[in-house]
Amino acid sequence: MAIPKALRDILACPNCHGALAEGDGHLCCPACSLRFAVREGIPVLLPGEAEKERP
Ligand SMILES: [Zn+2]
Repeated sequence: MAIPKALRDILACPNCHGALAEGDGHLCCPACSLRFAVREGIPVLLPGEAEKERP
């Protein structure tokens, strides 16, 4: 399920407050290489739930 653009535009990384990029079923922060799950269209932007992106 895609994230509405209006919602995506106001989302920020909880770690660095940078802009997030939308991936396939997740959001990722290019600045700190963290990946956030999107559950039922709702991004889970919790530092404890973030996954480190594989290099
Ligand atoms: Zn970040």
